[in-house]
Amino acid sequence: MKDKTSNAVLIRGADLLSMAAGEEVRPRRCDVMIEDGRISELGPDLVPPPGVEIVQAEGRLVMPGLVNAHVHSSEMFYRGRYERMPLETWLCWSYPFLGTQPLDLDMLHLRSQLVAIESLRSGVTMISDDFFDPPAHDLERLGTVFRAYDEAGIRANVSSGLMNLPYLDTIAHARDVFPPDVQAQLDFPLIGTADYVSYCEEVFATLHGSGGGRLRYMLAPSGPQRCTVELMQACRDLSLKWQAPYHTHVLETRTQAVTADRLFGGSIVRFMQDHGLLHPGVLMAHAVWVTDADIELMGNAGVSISWNALANLRLGSGLAPVRRMLDAGVNVALGTDGASSNDTMRLFDVIRVAGMISSATTAGPGAGLSADEVLRAATLGGAQAAMLSGSTGSLEVGKQADLIILNLSNGTAFTPLSDVAKQLVYCENGGSVESVMVDGRFVIRGGIMQTLDEKAVLSEIRDRMAFYLREHERIEAENAFLIPLFDKVLERCAAEPVSIERRLP
Ligand SMILES: [Zn+2]
Repeated sequence: MKDKTSNAVLIRGADLLSMAAGEEVRPRRCDVMIEDGRISELGPDLVPPPGVEIVQAEGRLVMPGLVNAHVHSSEMFYRGRYERMPLETWLCWSYPFLGTQPLDLDMLHLRSQLVAIESLRSGVTMISDDFFDPPAHDLERLGTVFRAYDEAGIRANVSSGLMNLPYLDTIAHARDVFPPDVQAQLDFPLIGTADYVSYCEEVFATLHGSGGGRLRYMLAPSGPQRCTVELMQACRDLSLKWQAPYHTHVLETRTQAVTADRLFGGSIVRFMQDHGLLHPGVLMAHAVWVTDADIELMGNAGVSISWNALANLRLGSGLAPVRRMLDAGVNVALGTDGASSNDTMRLFDVIRVAGMISSATTAGPGAGLSADEVLRAATLGGAQAAMLSGSTGSLEVGKQADLIILNLSNGTAFTPLSDVAKQLVYCENGGSVESVMVDGRFVIRGGIMQTLDEKAVLSEIRDRMAFYLREHERIEAENAFLIPLFDKVLERCAAEPVSIERRLP
């Protein structure tokens, strides 16, 4: 027997839910040997060689860490702030157009730490953070986000999200409604494709692969209606060159579907196909207003979607036809979206909602997703969307040890115990998560965060928030006059039929 190093851990006596493809979603008694960050052995009653740290886990469930496929860390300070408004109006508050200053680096660092803390605490070991920080694409600022995730010990794909078309051209009727002087205020100078590409190359050469490989960069042109074709294609080329995800937003709202009819003659997805923008590295956020023809194209190309079921409810965007997407071969992952539209990083909340709601506009509850399918989306589906299904998302020999340990006796979610998978979906809220391991390292152990001084981070944020929110209220006041204008745009869009509705039975 080979000599085990001090980097080895044996988790003994647990029930294991592997989430491996082709395996039943049912726990089995199984020990887990972890060496140098990877799972080296799985099986009952593994014999621990000398020097191996043993973690007794009787009565515990070990499962893969959850993967959150769509986050905007930029919204983390706006939780619980806005309600009862659709995306297009909500954007004026969450991403104000006028009077903003870049968040200072200390606050940026704290904000990213808060994302990591809440994610890890609720069992999320990997996030895809579409970091949106206009107008800058700044290595120091992006590096601050990377540093926060590095210190926290989480796994993350992080972008420097962008749009490079004038915002008012990306929503139907906006140019007709907004007075010329307001249009002039909102028509900012935009970054060119060559500048963005050279910035991305710099990020790939520096930050990408940091944190021992845990932290990666991804491309994130905001949406086909918000970016030039040239930029979208340049991002595709970088995505293929670096094997990095191509993250974009597709048809989140009915207003976007109306806009798509005007800009693309009906189908954004067809437009993407025609311009070579569909490939297995594509991760579409939302995809609520897609047609059967779109779904077929998506399935054939092997794209992923982040189903942000809770955020879609929160902003009244609609219900994505997830049943049909899964059946067509689209890879489905789950996302919280940013804290301004959700309002937490607890993926278990999304899991529960995803299990609850009927998954298609024309299907009843019988056509919804099973608990097994929802759990797959939250683990291996998310890993595939992150282009990391070979290394995380399930517990198999050779994969990185990204796992969570749940104490099923802690709290009431599993008492009485009927079916672990269904109770993970319908009963659990993250409260049973006792320990969290990323890359073979405990980042939370026995309920205690090992990597950050959690209390100090939270307390510093609370101390600084009064000043921050006073400033944000000033920005809100400066942007408030835009709301009635966007309301008028939305009214005009609502009055216009949209082709997807004409096609639905
Ligand atoms: Zn988003």
